[in-house]
Amino acid sequence: MLDDETPVLDNHLHLDPDNHRGIDAVRDFARLGGTHLLVVNKPSWHLGVEAETGEDFRAVFERTIEIVDEASSELDGRAWPVLGVHPGLITRLVDDRGFSPDDARDLMQAGIDVAAEYVESGEALALKSGRPHYEVDDDVWAASNAVMRRAFERGAELDCAVQLHAEASEDMTEVTDWAEEAGLPAHKVVKHYASGRLEGPVPSVMSEKDRLETAAERGEPFLMETDYIDDPDRPGAVLGPKTVPRRVRWLLENDREDAVRIAHVETPERVYGIDTEGTLERA
Ligand SMILES: [Zn+2]
Repeated sequence: MLDDETPVLDNHLHLDPDNHRGIDAVRDFARLGGTHLLVVNKPSWHLGVEAETGEDFRAVFERTIEIVDEASSELDGRAWPVLGVHPGLITRLVDDRGFSPDDARDLMQAGIDVAAEYVESGEALALKSGRPHYEVDDDVWAASNAVMRRAFERGAELDCAVQLHAEASEDMTEVTDWAEEAGLPAHKVVKHYASGRLEGPVPSVMSEKDRLETAAERGEPFLMETDYIDDPDRPGAVLGPKTVPRRVRWLLENDREDAVRIAHVETPERVYGIDTEGTLERA
């Protein structure tokens, strides 16, 4: 069973109090036993920001930091912001806004640099980057990889983790090799929306039973997430905010205490340097 000392972390979700449930989703998470959240900024264009310079991302980041403060006040643990530039932006820039892939790369790298300022000041925990999960032209792919590598460089300088949004894959060692070339150890690279098995980055596993079963069986570091997007137009696109605490109960009922400890205590410490037990005070 889920006791008072067990931290429960959702490693990747979005909150949108201006358009949808916002803090109500956090209350649902907390009521079921959730304690800690990593809140990733929504894609900039979902918030009506059509960035032209790196500075234009600041409004998105600032709003996310405000939401995280509100979320923390609802949790027995706390929330942290993860800031960056959604890799799907490149398609929007190139296909819809007439950017060349190189110009899109420059803008997105500038956005990563601004996100890194918030990590440096201690206001954000980690960076978010990646590359399209769908087929793109070679020059767009190259530009996307260059953006991701900029995130690795900043992560290395700041000693912070980088969460990736990327194609479905169970082997991304090429990508963690790039991270290590930049000075960022592979264990500080996290692939969000992962299946239960992955070589290279640490998998942030979508909290479906079969994926979790695979991750638990494997016994390697992993995290759990919902990618809850808090978007009224896409209610079924991802898992709801109650899912991680529910699945933690399910894992414990199935004698997976070790996996729960890996995903909610050991891996968060190893990847982000956060102490989910020391920051937990049940009300
Ligand atoms: Zn997401």
